[in-house]
Amino acid sequence: MKKLIFMGPPGAGKGTQAKIICENYKIPQISTGEILRAAIQSGKELGLKAKKYMDAGDLVPDEVVIGIIRERIGESDCKNGFLLDGFPRTIEQAEALDQMLEELNLKLDAVLNLSVPDNELLRRLLERAKIEGRSDDNEETIKNRLTNYNQKTLPLIEYYRKKGLLREINGLGSVEQITALIKEVLK
Ligand code: AMP
Repeated sequence: MKKLIFMGPPGAGKGTQAKIICENYKIPQISTGEILRAAIQSGKELGLKAKKYMDAGDLVPDEVVIGIIRERIGESDCKNGFLLDGFPRTIEQAEALDQMLEELNLKLDAVLNLSVPDNELLRRLLERAKIEGRSDDNEETIKNRLTNYNQKTLPLIEYYRKKGLLREINGLGSVEQITALIKEVLK
């Protein structure tokens, strides 16, 4: 099981777990959020396009992130596996991904959904704001990101459940406990 999607609201621990799992299974971690932040840092046009949405806690337009994934997933290191972290976030993105995978003759193995209650997410994100200083980790932006998640990304859970790919993971617990749950599911 190596072609994976990690889903879950902001603050659920997707990024942390994605890093651990990718190291373990030797697969590339593809995080649209990280790719966008790197593009902003290096002053690339992609970054300029995305910054205003990210700073407001809004989703970057579908065509922008779909373009990022199309370019990345076609690279040769993705043939044997990959972990998508933070993509797809809308039904349009999920449908575009299905089409890309079909063209590349690749099939997803599982979609892991890390679930954590809203009050705990807010606490974790405010904590992360203090540590990492991410410009989109302030209370107002965080609330908007959670609202966007609930409106636009939650429907993907049903989308992947219907395809028989969804695996639910309880995201409450220590990093080690959650990694163990994920490894159990991927066995
Ligand atoms: P993340 O690091 O996954 O929390 O993403 C940070 C920000 O990048 C999000 O709040 C969005 O503005 C943007 N972003 C990342 N991935 C996507 C995506 N798949 N679709 C739209 N916007 C995204």
